[in-house]
Amino acid sequence: MQYSQVVGQNEIKQSLISGIEQNKLSHCYLFEGPKDMGKFKLAVTFAQSLFCNNFNQEPCENCNDCIKVSTMNHPDLHILDVEEKTIKREVVDELINDIYKKPYESSRKVFIIKNAHLMTVQAANTFLKTLEEPPKDTIIILLTTNINLLLPTIVSRCQVVKFKNISTKEIQKYLMNNYEVDDAKASLIANYSNGILNKAVNIINDKDEILSKRSEIINVFDKIIKSDEEIIFNLENYFEEQKDNIDAIIEIMMLWIRDITYLKNNLKNLLINKDLIDLLYEHSFLFKKNSGDDIINYLQKVSDYIKSNVNYKLTIDKMLLKIQEEFK
Ligand SMILES: [Zn+2]
Repeated sequence: MQYSQVVGQNEIKQSLISGIEQNKLSHCYLFEGPKDMGKFKLAVTFAQSLFCNNFNQEPCENCNDCIKVSTMNHPDLHILDVEEKTIKREVVDELINDIYKKPYESSRKVFIIKNAHLMTVQAANTFLKTLEEPPKDTIIILLTTNINLLLPTIVSRCQVVKFKNISTKEIQKYLMNNYEVDDAKASLIANYSNGILNKAVNIINDKDEILSKRSEIINVFDKIIKSDEEIIFNLENYFEEQKDNIDAIIEIMMLWIRDITYLKNNLKNLLINKDLIDLLYEHSFLFKKNSGDDIINYLQKVSDYIKSNVNYKLTIDKMLLKIQEEFK
């Protein structure tokens, strides 16, 4: 895997590459970013670069070391990926044991620890002692979704690398270059991926059902705005069943109303749901205001309220009534 194949994160890539070129390496890196952001991919590419015999901005991918990394068979690349809910002290003890061994083939060893925040306090404290005086031939890369879940004493001993969301344009370009999708579909998926490339890839491979959810929700939305109050009571069961998906549902509705606003303001080229433009037109005629900002802000609040455990049913009923009012 080469850096050029990893989408986005240009600043991070550049700083890792120049670290190698100038031989200014940290003994511990901490990659922080949401799930599916490509942290592991980049960590492996970095490890490959560290082992590669012909590194020049990119790992060569042809030398013995590169091939062993690509096939995940490099004896000096250690990956810790526990399936349990925590990383226990015994696991860390074993890891530390490996850290103090000499490398088998290369001049250094690389350790990648996935979900480092899962370390128990005992495990983290044991690990901390190693971080205080790590062997010089070792580079550790910790991966986490949330830096605040790690002991501050661990964080302070690492070089923190924060992953940023990738722009919609970049994701759209990547999808068009690597999959058979047209401009409109790529843009739709990119917009629903929240700047997370793997999420976009999962949507394209149908591993993420957001697009089928979208059809369902827009259908429900259509019913809500075209019916009278009774529909709200008819939908009670539906929303009760959808409790776990409510975030995604509200997000889909917000993006839909955003599109309606854009359509009313002649900004057709900015639409996300371009493929459903006829229905968007229909809804935009029913929407009397020029801007959907109020209702979008309201929906955002509803989404926040629900997280703070307010009465779910009541909040949803109010939300549906509010939507109806806006489209009367
Ligand atoms: Zn190589």
